[in-house]
Amino acid sequence: VIQLFIPLNFLGFVYREIRRALTDIENMFGLLRRPATVQDREGATELAVTEGRIEFDGVQFHYHSNRSILNSLSLTIEPGHRVALVGSSGAGKSTIGRLLFRFYDPQAGEIRIDGQCIGEVTQQSLRRAIGVVPQDTVLFNDSILNNIRYGRPDASDEEVWRAIRMAHLDDFIQSLPERELTQVGERGLKVSGGEKQRIAIARVLLKDPPILLFDEATSALDSHAEQAILQAMREVSRNRTSIVIAHRLSTIVDADKIVVLQNGRVVEEGTHPRLLAAEGVYADLWRTQLHEEE
Ligand code: ATP
Repeated sequence: VIQLFIPLNFLGFVYREIRRALTDIENMFGLLRRPATVQDREGATELAVTEGRIEFDGVQFHYHSNRSILNSLSLTIEPGHRVALVGSSGAGKSTIGRLLFRFYDPQAGEIRIDGQCIGEVTQQSLRRAIGVVPQDTVLFNDSILNNIRYGRPDASDEEVWRAIRMAHLDDFIQSLPERELTQVGERGLKVSGGEKQRIAIARVLLKDPPILLFDEATSALDSHAEQAILQAMREVSRNRTSIVIAHRLSTIVDADKIVVLQNGRVVEEGTHPRLLAAEGVYADLWRTQLHEEE
């Protein structure tokens, strides 16, 4: 019985690991659509992230040849910067995330991380370097502590607790009936959207990748939840390059750079005050959102 039990247990672990990786990735873009398979090149090397500079250089992309999504998109994200992608629905923000993850290859142009074309490196090394905070995080039927530990299964309790504090989850956990051992997931305690995003942030803190992709939830959160997420985001993006797919402009006013997309192109980029002063597309988006919130 024991002999049978151990391998089954191990298989269960492997299964959960694979499922976790897949659900994180699928979830990130709210897609259950399976992307076309991308293969590693023969002799693909390991991505070496030295600084974390990301470049999109003349990127041309379509899902179907009759409709172009990105048109000669060029964009540089400096090491350690927090950059927000904004634009109306369908502008191509999530597509940029999918291409960076290499779910698809562009039809023309190149995407580089620290000078290395991402098509030339192994997918494993690429995806290891990028942490994702998806819009809607999947929680497993397990304790909240173990759910956070999924970010790095071998993390010590102390490391998990540090991530919990940095993600501003400690008050929430202290308020739970069984604290960190409280069961969450479908069969456990329901967790709000904002709390789930902070759980995803804590996971990413444990994974500790040099690059971060944050897919902001579209649904509005109450201002207390939003403040908690913003603080957690600031912690997690310190010293790493981060890209935020932003839906609510109020969350990215302090970004190092805001990139405005329209028809698959960058139409404006700059800081919030500069873009407001420019009285262009961003200023219009900003006024529209202010109006909607009122
Ligand atoms: P939103 O703010 O609504 O999330 P977005 O700016 O992130 O939008 P994308 O998800 O990048 O936009 O989509 C850009 C365009 O590509 C949209 O018109 C969308 O319908 C289309 N699209 C996205 N995924 C696919 C796909 N798998 N196959 C075909 N078309 C797609």
